[in-house]
Amino acid sequence: MRKFGMVAAATLALLGTTAHAKTTVIYAGRVITDASKPAQGPSTVTITDDRITAVTPGRTEAPAGAEVVDLGDRTLLPGLIDLHVHLTGDPGDDYRAASVDPDEWGVVVGAKNAAITLRAGFTTVREAGSAQYTAYALRRGTANGFIEGPRIVAAGPALSIIGGHGDVTGFREDVHAVLDQGYTCTGPLECAEKVRKASRAGADVIKITATGGVLSQQARGLEGHFTSAELQSIADTAHSLGLKVMAHAHGAGGITASAAAGIDSIEHGTFADDATLKVMKAKGTYLVPTLMAFEGIRERLGKGIYTPTVEDKVRMTLNDVGKAVTRAKALGVPVAFGTDAGVFEHGRNGGEFALLVKYGLTPQEALASATTVAAKLLSMENEIGRIAPGMSADMVAVSGDPLADVSALEKVDWVMARGRIAD
Ligand SMILES: [Zn+2]
Repeated sequence: MRKFGMVAAATLALLGTTAHAKTTVIYAGRVITDASKPAQGPSTVTITDDRITAVTPGRTEAPAGAEVVDLGDRTLLPGLIDLHVHLTGDPGDDYRAASVDPDEWGVVVGAKNAAITLRAGFTTVREAGSAQYTAYALRRGTANGFIEGPRIVAAGPALSIIGGHGDVTGFREDVHAVLDQGYTCTGPLECAEKVRKASRAGADVIKITATGGVLSQQARGLEGHFTSAELQSIADTAHSLGLKVMAHAHGAGGITASAAAGIDSIEHGTFADDATLKVMKAKGTYLVPTLMAFEGIRERLGKGIYTPTVEDKVRMTLNDVGKAVTRAKALGVPVAFGTDAGVFEHGRNGGEFALLVKYGLTPQEALASATTVAAKLLSMENEIGRIAPGMSADMVAVSGDPLADVSALEKVDWVMARGRIAD
């Protein structure tokens, strides 16, 4: 990707053995520093190591020894954030692979997908459910630069009810016992225990499956799984540890119960009606719609990829996809960007922008959902989501103006994550 007239100053070699900070100077024709503000014209952005240190109008001269990146007339904008990915899986994976593939294979698949995701412009992702240590290993690998990929905020295994979405289902009971990840819970006490266990294991966020889900072999529909007392225990325990909770939820009853318990974000939210969304609004709950997931399952329906149990559940959802986004906007519920990549091919994450616009967000709101709004949900608004001095050097460049046409975000030309250029 290193194709934009990069000029390494002749003095660079002299600095090689010293402890000098590395400086990178970027020229771009247009810069969106913050999705809530209009783009500014030709600008110079200076990076020192992994931090943005200056944003100045026009083209200012690079200091001696700086690496220079000239992006021409491209638009430079904050690195994108996807709040719902599954890096360790690919679409159409047979559920029986869980009984064959070791967790280590998930790390290999995840390393492949982390690189693909970064090159699609996503410099931070929230890993929404994986085997015990796979996402944590990937998180460490992209943080120290051993593998190319985004910053990873990782949940690890999801908490679920026994036999619910998120538990291992579809096998004999003795096989379930072998494959069990250890995160099902029954009753408030055990659910609190499992939150603490996830925290001890290294979770950055607690993921729960609050209702049935489409792609599991459980055949009990898409409504609520946990009791309100269990949801309350999960939310209170997580918050006491400084962790947020993300709840997979489709049915309106399960969404309402999750929001009422203080869970921080509803993932999918397919059947959220006005009464449900009013509870979310009152509680400050975010909606993460994952519209691309439904594109993925729509493309695979009727092709012998899914079991009959799953196909039935897919058909329950498709007529309602996107309606919750329109209603959420009307009622003032914050919509944050997440795709469920892994249900569709990793790297197509940017397709979510056009779907958000299709269901009523403006291009500016869609971009905010993947930058400032997503950063706020992660409690990282002073680290990522804007181009400003002091922020992590996470930026992408695209041709065209994404505030006029969000499809510009589907083809990202240049990526910098934590000061490192993907090349
Ligand atoms: Zn998911």
